[in-house]
Amino acid sequence: MSEITDIFETLEYGPAPEATGPVDAWLDRHDRRFSHWIGGEWRAPSGGDRFETANPASGRSLAAVAQGGEADVDAAVAAARAAQPAWRALSGHARARYLYAIARRLQRDARFFAVLETLDNGKPIREARDVDVPLVARHFYHHAGWAQLLSAELPGQVPVGVVGQIIPWNFPLLMLAWKVAPALAAGNTVVLKPAEFTSLTALAFAELTKAVGLPDGVCNVVTGDGRTGAALAAHPDVNKIAFTGSTEVGRILREATAGSGKKLSLELGGKSPFLVYEDADLDSVVEGVVDAIWFNQGQVCCAGSRILAQEGIADRLVEKLKARMETLRIGDPLDKAVDIGAIVAPVQLERIRTLVEKGREEGAELWQPSWSCPEEGWFYPPTLLTRVEPASTVARVEIFGPVVTLMTFRTPAESVELANDTRYGLAASIWTENINLALDVAPKVKAGTVWINCTNLFDAASGFGGYRESGFGREGGLEGMWEYVRPAWEEYASEAPPAVTRAAPPPGEGGEAGVVAGAIPAAEEEDDAATPDVPPVDRTAKMYVGGKQARPDAPYTIEVRAPDGSLVGEVGRGSRKDIRNAVEAARRAQPKWAAATAHNRAQVLYYLAENLAPRGAELAARIDAMTGGGRAAAEAEVEASLARLFLYAGLADKWDGRVHHTPFRNVTLAMPEPLGVIGAACPTEAPLLGFVSTVIPAVAMGNAVVAVPSERWPLAATDLYQVLDTSDLPGGVVNIVTGGRDELAQVLAAHDDVDGVWYFGTREGSAAVERLSVGNLKRTWTDLGRPRDWHDPVQGEGDEFLRRCTQVKNVWVPYGE
Ligand code: NAD
Ligand code: MN
Repeated sequence: MSEITDIFETLEYGPAPEATGPVDAWLDRHDRRFSHWIGGEWRAPSGGDRFETANPASGRSLAAVAQGGEADVDAAVAAARAAQPAWRALSGHARARYLYAIARRLQRDARFFAVLETLDNGKPIREARDVDVPLVARHFYHHAGWAQLLSAELPGQVPVGVVGQIIPWNFPLLMLAWKVAPALAAGNTVVLKPAEFTSLTALAFAELTKAVGLPDGVCNVVTGDGRTGAALAAHPDVNKIAFTGSTEVGRILREATAGSGKKLSLELGGKSPFLVYEDADLDSVVEGVVDAIWFNQGQVCCAGSRILAQEGIADRLVEKLKARMETLRIGDPLDKAVDIGAIVAPVQLERIRTLVEKGREEGAELWQPSWSCPEEGWFYPPTLLTRVEPASTVARVEIFGPVVTLMTFRTPAESVELANDTRYGLAASIWTENINLALDVAPKVKAGTVWINCTNLFDAASGFGGYRESGFGREGGLEGMWEYVRPAWEEYASEAPPAVTRAAPPPGEGGEAGVVAGAIPAAEEEDDAATPDVPPVDRTAKMYVGGKQARPDAPYTIEVRAPDGSLVGEVGRGSRKDIRNAVEAARRAQPKWAAATAHNRAQVLYYLAENLAPRGAELAARIDAMTGGGRAAAEAEVEASLARLFLYAGLADKWDGRVHHTPFRNVTLAMPEPLGVIGAACPTEAPLLGFVSTVIPAVAMGNAVVAVPSERWPLAATDLYQVLDTSDLPGGVVNIVTGGRDELAQVLAAHDDVDGVWYFGTREGSAAVERLSVGNLKRTWTDLGRPRDWHDPVQGEGDEFLRRCTQVKNVWVPYGE
């Protein structure tokens, strides 16, 4: 045994570089000078600017690429817009044929693309050839299927329109595939901006689309740096931005698109935990670490960059890791026997050096193999940092290089705590031979992908994307398709003239307490002293926080008036402090509520309906008194609310996940999980139905909610306190804060312990919520002031509501020996 090991250890490889002939010929054919790809042809940059793209293994220039300016982006968006109606009008089958043709062609030209990718990015040819390019082809094959199946699998949906796509440099062609394939499958046209360090494979891909006859303008490529990306994100005729890259830029894009109506998906950074329990197979773990952090030089958003090892095995693991690191081969990425290639650019190399230096200053112990890196080019050795404190920079900041930290834990509970001690939530890897432990930890780790006894596995059939500040939206699988469609009814609604007229904010309130929606006469001034002809009000409805009625923090009240001006009642005017208290209560209640069985949650919702029914007449009278819409309409609203409670009770244990067909020996469990704490600004109209329609789906899925009921007619919600009390709903799962919708929604949007905000109100209110959500990148769902018919089952209930309050976690479970 030891002899064989010796042989492997001393085995010397001769250099075996991959030939670059066809790529050189292609570059030369273009005079090593590229333009944008717009409307199916090359277009010189409007400003004439170009910049060099280099080979990281040598530092030498490969070619000059165009720097896109506003005029270039404008031309590309115009080309995409012009092409979109015809592309959308094609049958799903016709679009499937194009995607299939792209996949075939990519496979045919696989070697060319792999070599070009390695030259421009610096990644080992073995990875470009065996991982990147095969996954690219697989992505187009998979999405040819979605094009064909779209109308059957995503009924009632239409394409978003023109999509702007901005991608990073770490997997240039693969990120292109993740973006372009689903967009085209769904009937969108695209403008793609590759990263400035790695534009070449996108430009070669553009030529490929021409070769397979893709209609001009369906897929456009504009090259350039962040300024080009910013111009694309700001373009008024773009309907969606799909971004992969840093969390910093993700935040910029969240703010830049706020209120614009652009759909947004963000795939951002990570600091993914790699959990090793004491019964793990340590030899497999070591190979896992190699794949987790030295794959692609660690320039992987989901890299397992934080090893968390159980105390008993930590020292042994470190020894084994060091031995393995010593055998890693770094060097010419075109060499088929090389494990680690070059870092994409000097600026990234500098960032890695600076962060590692900072780690040492903060007390970490550094270990690197004894061999040295090539002199030429931008290389960094595999690096292990031990004695790392959870609070130190290298344990918190994404290094995006071949650097892994190691920390220890004692118990599984402590491992989960450490794993989640990060703002990110992209991926996690769990290593143990105990399947019970693995499947217990998997749901507790906040991450979009969890790999059990494996790591860095990707497939087109499985959605990929983040929790928390790793972004939102999924790429791949059915989950990913939802990012490129929108409900058909929205399109008709946005084309129709506004069905609802909006009244001006009450004078003297600066609009703060609310723009009132609905085709109803405006309310009287709020601060109007009670007029003598109004009967005295007996009580002011309180807030509902943590399962108890709570006096508002500030002694201000809001009068609720009927359309004829008569006073119906009063509610407290909620403040920042009331929201904070409610969020705390929701946070405390949520884990237990989520852990309750779906059957239990359903039972509570049925019970709520049961307790609400006998109060129906009273509630209908209240609704009628507030809205003046007539008794029959009010009774219909109560009836519809009861039906909706039943609907979500029914769905609570039926909205489940899938098992994806990923082509490894594993099952991939796509599990919808609740977001956590959701703030909900309920619609003004339909005071009871609007409240039930927004709060109940979120509760059914295991979220806790802080609801701001109808600003103008809040009494339908405050009348529910007793019903909530008697329905076995745990305190804190539903909290109600009355007051100014926009003011309170904005407090919720800015609150860093809120995971999602739903807002139904005005366009300006929507914009503010989206802009303020940037702190923790919470998920938002806003109506942009587009009225929704809450009685219509297509608009007022169903899957969209459930998708909006859940996020999919994909758990990869291998099988076989
Ligand atoms: P980045 O976010 O700066 O760049 C990603 C893409 O966004 C590029 O195409 C870039 O040109 C573009 N961009 C930059 N500024 C923009 C702006 N203001 N508006 C629109 N587009 C803009 O990331 P980077 O410079 O390539 O790398 C920096 C860090 O980002 C890395 O160290 C790493 O932490 C992280 N990163 C993450 C991923 C990932 O897959 N999640 C990928 C690459 C980098
Ligand atoms: Mn390059």
